[in-house]
Amino acid sequence: MTLLTFRFAPSPNGDLHLGHAYSALLNQKLAEAHDGRLLLRIEDIDTTRCTPQFEAGVLADLKWLGLGWEEPVRRQSEHFAEYEAVLDRLIREDLVYPAFMSRSEIRAFIADSEKRGRDWPRDPDGVPLYPPSDKALPVKERKRRIAENEPFAWRLDIDAAVARVGGDLAWTEFTDESLSATRSVEARPRDWGDVIVARRDIPTSYHLAVTVDDALQGVSRVVRGQDLFSATGLQRLLQEFLGLPQPAYFHHRLILGPDGRKLSKSLGDTGLAELREAGASPDDIRRMVGL
Ligand code: GLU
Repeated sequence: MTLLTFRFAPSPNGDLHLGHAYSALLNQKLAEAHDGRLLLRIEDIDTTRCTPQFEAGVLADLKWLGLGWEEPVRRQSEHFAEYEAVLDRLIREDLVYPAFMSRSEIRAFIADSEKRGRDWPRDPDGVPLYPPSDKALPVKERKRRIAENEPFAWRLDIDAAVARVGGDLAWTEFTDESLSATRSVEARPRDWGDVIVARRDIPTSYHLAVTVDDALQGVSRVVRGQDLFSATGLQRLLQEFLGLPQPAYFHHRLILGPDGRKLSKSLGDTGLAELREAGASPDDIRRMVGL
């Protein structure tokens, strides 16, 4: 029998709050209940926002909570060469293209189109989809702009990628916290448009690194927040054309702040360090998140 493998994958770009505590503790509870493994992955590809100080804080908070994980911890910033190898494959297979538009150019393009009465489509996170112009650039023009050192990001040609895998894609989603029943969810990768798979200075993106690492680490149960539900459709597509195994997913409820909104890393009163300093114990935290 193969062991079930769970993971908690925080990004050290701020302090942990009650929402992270719930996610980490739920993963631990499920790993224990299933005699499975629990891995910790530090998702620090954004080397400007993620700092060693935040990472130290994350590890200290998790230890205080009583989380136990297998060593070594995988730190994504130490594996750029592995992501780059996958990116090279996508480049060779013509599934990505260099996208040159800056943020302000994208904004101007969309404003112009909306002025003419057309609502510009947005991805599930509310970000406007990338305009189609760069995808249509002739190869010669692309090469010239790259040779001239124009900054660009690699974007997935979502239509080409969907066409490559053919047919409908779905993933297996557990229906509740006990992971006893599943349902099949239709993956809708097209909703994301031509997403970034690598920046010029970072040879990967969140979606690419997560997909590669979940497979590489043998993660079979992905338990994470509801805010990443739609992202799973895109990650399923990446798994499919990279020939990677599919974990089963559970997207858990989000812990909301007193104002009913999603917690953010700057919300002082729900930060784990603040709660600890105010005298809360790990058991208090468990109770606060309903575990
Ligand atoms: N690193 C992501 C975050 O902190 C979580 C990624 C995942 O669980 O897939 O939001």
